[in-house]
Amino acid sequence: MVEVQTLLVSGVLARAGFLIIFILYSFRPGAVTAYRFWTLSIICSAAGLWLTYQDANYPNFSPENGALIYFIVTISIVSVRTGAKSFFGVPLDPFSFLVTSIVPALVHWSTSTAGLSTRYVLALTMVVLVYTLATASWSFLKRRRQTRLPSQILIGSALAVYAVTLGATAVSLVVGEVLGYGGIGPSSDYVFVSVFIDQTFSVLIYVGLVAMTLEEAQRHMRVTATTDPLTGLANRRGLEERTLAIIGAGRRQQRPMAVLIADIDHFKSINDRYGHASGDIVLKQFAERLQNHLKRQQDVLARWGGEEFVAVLHDASLEDAVRLAELLCRVIEATPFEVGNETIPVTASIGVALFRDEEPLLEQAIHIADAGLYEAKRTGRNRVCVGEVQG
Ligand code: GH3
Ligand code: MG
Ligand code: MG
Repeated sequence: MVEVQTLLVSGVLARAGFLIIFILYSFRPGAVTAYRFWTLSIICSAAGLWLTYQDANYPNFSPENGALIYFIVTISIVSVRTGAKSFFGVPLDPFSFLVTSIVPALVHWSTSTAGLSTRYVLALTMVVLVYTLATASWSFLKRRRQTRLPSQILIGSALAVYAVTLGATAVSLVVGEVLGYGGIGPSSDYVFVSVFIDQTFSVLIYVGLVAMTLEEAQRHMRVTATTDPLTGLANRRGLEERTLAIIGAGRRQQRPMAVLIADIDHFKSINDRYGHASGDIVLKQFAERLQNHLKRQQDVLARWGGEEFVAVLHDASLEDAVRLAELLCRVIEATPFEVGNETIPVTASIGVALFRDEEPLLEQAIHIADAGLYEAKRTGRNRVCVGEVQG
């Protein structure tokens, strides 16, 4: 049989790998605070494991030792959650961190100095720990399905199962006390099970945290690759990806779809007259105005390049698209753009086309809309023209 000491040494060493990863990451620019909390969590988790099972009175610690052990263990749990919050940009609340970390220790210390039976002391402390674990678990699982990463499900579930295990232990302690049968004690069998549970769930949680940082980095790269940094709209690639989804829906529902391409008139002279930086701000405001007038959630707006923007309209006939394009022209022209102290009049020309059943759908539609745009420019700008199919 493996000795508890050996199990403990391996348990503490198993955390060393994660410790190295988190320490290294906490010196790199980025989510520094998150990695520092997770480093703290690992250190506390190892120290808590060691102190817990080294104590000759385990699990009936003296009030002082118990307070220290539960304080350290709780910090290791709360740091997982606080680190994750900071990782996703939620500002730190040191007061709530400290209060949450201290409550189980306080419960253990006050109940044991008050002379409560050791099983009740343990059960009460565990109940508070269950609450801490459950709220930590919920903070990982509560995100909306679209934004929740698989690793967050892993971490949230590991914390939840940990909470259930502790909760069941607390119940068995109370029932044992009431009915008067032997409960949990420092028998070697119990220690093994307990160390095993601690070990398994901690490792799952830390594996989850490492996976979460990788998944988030991947998600971030995907977003960057499909987003235009100036306007925050989809770029060409983003438009293609998002349009694929709504083309499928439009075909299934047999609804028409339309595309419009808007191009700012004489944008080069805006740049020349007010400067490139002001030109950039005009582009941003232009994008916002277009976005504000696209009502449907499925509609996709993208910066096609330079000062050209494409909108793909879901469930829109050619007439709907022309009406929207004309509204956009009026909205752009009616209110000049305010950039710093300057008031810049802007107009745009828009080409419109229906999605026809010609592959590649999007490219063809934009090609035809582009013919409309060319016609709008040729016939005086600040207007809408429907693209004609050539030949
Ligand atoms: P037209 O009415 O025929 O569309 O004339 P235009 O001047 O708008 O068109 P043209 O294609 O001649 O010029 C587009 C200008 O857009 C040229 C380029 O410098 C400018 N441009 C492209 N991208 C950006 C950008 O990101 N920021 C700024 N400020 N200007 C840009
Ligand atoms: Mg232009
Ligand atoms: Mg252009």
